[in-house]
Amino acid sequence: MLAEPYRIKVVEPVKIPSRKKREQILKKAHYNIFNVRSEDIYIDLLTDSGTAAMSCNQWAGIMLGDEAYANCRNYFNLKSAIKKIFGFRYFVPTHQGRAAENILFSTVIKPGMVVPSNMHFDTTRANIVMNGGKAINLVIDDAYKPFRKVPFKGNMDTKKLRRFLDENYEKVPLVMLTITNNSGGGQPVSMKNIRKVSKICKEYGKPFFIDACRYAENAYFIKERETGYKNKSVLEIAQEIFSYADGCTFSGKKDALVNIGGFLAMNDAKLFEKVKQRLILVEGFPTYGGLAGRDLEAMARGLIEGLDEDYLQGRIAQTRYLGEGLRREGIPVIQPIGGHAVYVEAKRFLPHIPQAEFPGQALVIELYREAAVRAVEIGSVMFAEKDEKGRVKYPKLEMMRLAIPRRVYTNAHMDVVIEAHRKIAERKEKVYGYRIVKGSGPLRHFTAWFKPVR
Ligand SMILES: *Cc1c(COP(=O)(O)O)cnc(C)c1O
Repeated sequence: MLAEPYRIKVVEPVKIPSRKKREQILKKAHYNIFNVRSEDIYIDLLTDSGTAAMSCNQWAGIMLGDEAYANCRNYFNLKSAIKKIFGFRYFVPTHQGRAAENILFSTVIKPGMVVPSNMHFDTTRANIVMNGGKAINLVIDDAYKPFRKVPFKGNMDTKKLRRFLDENYEKVPLVMLTITNNSGGGQPVSMKNIRKVSKICKEYGKPFFIDACRYAENAYFIKERETGYKNKSVLEIAQEIFSYADGCTFSGKKDALVNIGGFLAMNDAKLFEKVKQRLILVEGFPTYGGLAGRDLEAMARGLIEGLDEDYLQGRIAQTRYLGEGLRREGIPVIQPIGGHAVYVEAKRFLPHIPQAEFPGQALVIELYREAAVRAVEIGSVMFAEKDEKGRVKYPKLEMMRLAIPRRVYTNAHMDVVIEAHRKIAERKEKVYGYRIVKGSGPLRHFTAWFKPVR
């Protein structure tokens, strides 16, 4: 295996607080990792969104920001990058992905409408719901089997899609597809599946939009795993993907390697006119859309860099390195390893902690306690709900997600994370659960306070 395909020109020192200090920090944070200050974290795997290290080329581009209100030069650079990769006729920049979603859905959704997708990301779902619609997930059943190894676990179930369109034809404004499937563990969608979804949309006369946040990672998986793509460049694969779609929403904070930015693209001229009006209201003039000229430039350059195959090879290999390393230590990780994150199944890892005491949360806290590493719980803290009778319904999986920022950490950092898990495994019977002492509602994971159950 090759080492990281970059050398480090600028460094940001990180410190590891002493064990005693970490214990105090946890207590002061009420055992909620969102309350821990970034400066008190040694390796931060909370998210891969907006956390990338920009290249010297992007930083040079920042100095070329043209801060004119209208038609700055950076807009045209972004336009040509989008034209080259995505090929859509029209686009507007937005300050991040969810703003693109908001503008799209507030334009096309009327109350009572439904939007099918393989799996909606939470902001996508929320933007559909806020505009009076409903978000439906039609991913293949294998996506719900955590240890089942299939190459394209993010695929749409096209039979379900057909049936859905037959039954809800009038109510569907468009069909979405998320690549890679973030909420399903960063699992890719095959070209065959994309082609098929596109064909069905054409048959039914429905626009087909892609949530393209991790399209480059998805294209890389296609090259690696799908017959007929080994000798195609990732750029060519990306071009083919988008040739099947009518538009996309995009968060630059993922595969465009920037800390802020996004866009909404489409082929339909009439839709574009409406989108521009809406954009001016909520984001800004259509050539800057909520961003500074320098941000547009960084995104234009990042889009091109995000398709570099050495970078992508290193990126996907690093995620796999972490996942395989954990698996070798006997830690149950969701299979196959996805593009941007590794997921540990905490219920299997810590079977003595009942779901009512949040095994995922317990593992997140223990990982900080062990090595000042920050991960995030994706389990009962986030998803447990009460049914009509007031009984708590727990999610099937209690996961801890380790999301890897792009170009930020080396594999030596990954070794620290693996070693921390090994140490936790050695004393895992002594790891205890937590209960919530403050906080409720669907977004409680951001703010809840916990207490150890001992
Ligand atoms: C991050 C993300 C979004 C939202 O983008 P933001 O830039 O965070 O607003 C939408 N869809 C998917 C799949 C994402 O991962």
